[in-house]
Amino acid sequence: MTTTLVKETFLAGTAEFDQYVMNTYARFPIALERGSGCKVWDSEGKEYLDFVAGIATCTLGHAHPAMVKAVTEQIQKLHHVSNLYYTASQGELAKWLVQNSCADKAFFCNSGAEANEAAIKLARKYAHVKLGIEQPVILTAHASFHGRTLATITATGQPKYQKNFTPLVPGFDYVPYNDIAALETAVAKYDGRLCAVMLEALQGEGGVCPGDRAYFQRVRQLCDESKALLILDEVQVGMGRSGKLWGYENLGIQPDIFTSAKGLGGGIPIGAMMCKSSCDLFEPGDHASTFGGNPFACSVAIAVAKTLEADNLIANARERGQQLKDGLSSIAANYPDTIDQVRGWGLIVGLVIEESATLTSRDVVQAGIERGLLLVPAGPKVVRFVPPLIVTAAEIDRSIEIIAEALSQHH
Ligand SMILES: *Cc1c(COP(=O)(O)O)cnc(C)c1O
Repeated sequence: MTTTLVKETFLAGTAEFDQYVMNTYARFPIALERGSGCKVWDSEGKEYLDFVAGIATCTLGHAHPAMVKAVTEQIQKLHHVSNLYYTASQGELAKWLVQNSCADKAFFCNSGAEANEAAIKLARKYAHVKLGIEQPVILTAHASFHGRTLATITATGQPKYQKNFTPLVPGFDYVPYNDIAALETAVAKYDGRLCAVMLEALQGEGGVCPGDRAYFQRVRQLCDESKALLILDEVQVGMGRSGKLWGYENLGIQPDIFTSAKGLGGGIPIGAMMCKSSCDLFEPGDHASTFGGNPFACSVAIAVAKTLEADNLIANARERGQQLKDGLSSIAANYPDTIDQVRGWGLIVGLVIEESATLTSRDVVQAGIERGLLLVPAGPKVVRFVPPLIVTAAEIDRSIEIIAEALSQHH
C-alpha cells in the first residue's frame, strides 16, 4: 500500500465516522490503529508516545503479553455467564482486591460511573436501614468528577456537566475541595440527614488536584462523628497510578466504600465498588449488572493485578512519576509567566498553566500531537500526563524533551 492510499483511507474514514457516530467528543483528527507498550501508531504510520493511556486506563500499555494471554485463554474457555452462577475468576479478583485494600467485599460492574452509582445506592440503603434517614444527603466536592449517568453528573460538582440535563437527582450538595471549615459548616447544616461524603483522593478531571492529608483526616473524623459514610472515588487514581495501590494510602485514612474502574482491567471494561463489612447491606434483588464481573473481564483484571505485583509497577509509578515531575518542574522554572506549577502523585501529573497566560492546555496537547506525544487536558489550564505504569525512564525523558520544545516554540 502506498502512503497516499493509506492517507485517503484515513480521511474518508474520519468523514464517514462523523456521519454515523454521535458528536460527543472533541476528537483530534488522528485515527489510531495499533499499539505496543507505551507507543501507538496512527493510520498514516506515525508513531506516538501514549501518555493518555485511554485516560489513565491502559495500566500495562498496549498489547501486553500478560493481557494477550489472559484474553486468549479466557475467551476460549468461558467468556460470559450470568451472575446467577459462581465463576472462579470473579471470586479470585474479589479476594485479591479485599486482601490488598481496606475493604471486605466487592461488587463488580463495567465502568466508573456504574461503580459510583452502586456506591450511592449502597450509601442510601445504609441511611434508610441503619440510620433511619428518610431524605438522605450526600456531600461531594466542587470540581469533582464522578461519571455521566444522571446520579453521577449530579454528584459531579461541575455545572458544565449538568447543563441541559435537569432535573437532577435530589439529595446532593457540594463543598469546596480541601476546605475543612466549609465541610464543617455543611456537616452541621445537614445534621440528621447526612448519609455520605463522596470525594476523589486526588481530583483527576478537575485539574489533577491532590487531596490534602489534614483535610482528609478531618473528613474521616466528621464522618465518624456524624455516622456518615466516607466514599472515595478511586476510578482514576486507583490500581497503582498514585504510586500506592490506592489513592487513599497517600492520605493516611481509610474509606468505608471506594470505587475502581479505569486502570482495573488495563483497558478491558470493568468496575468495582468495594465496601467494609459495616456497610455490606446489599441483598439479592437490590443491585445487579448483566455484564458485571464476567469471567472475561475478571480474568484480565487478575492478569493486570498479578503483573503489577510481579513487575513492581507501583514502585515504577513512583520513580517514573518523580522523574517526570522533576523534569517538568525544571522546564517550568524557565517560564514563570506561563507555567504555574507541576503537581500530582505517581503517574498522574498535571502541568498547570498560569490563568493569565494565553496558552491553553489544548494548545500544549496539540503541540504534543505534532511532535508524537499524546496528552490529555484536565480543564482549560491543566495538561495531564497519565502514561501506562510500564513507562520507561527513556520514554519519560522523551516526553520532557517534547514539552521543552513545545514551550520554547510558544515563546
Ligand atoms: C473517569 C472517571 C469516572 C467515570 O468513569 P466511566 O468509566 O467513564 O464511567 C468516575 N470518577 C472518576 C474519578 C473518573 O476519573
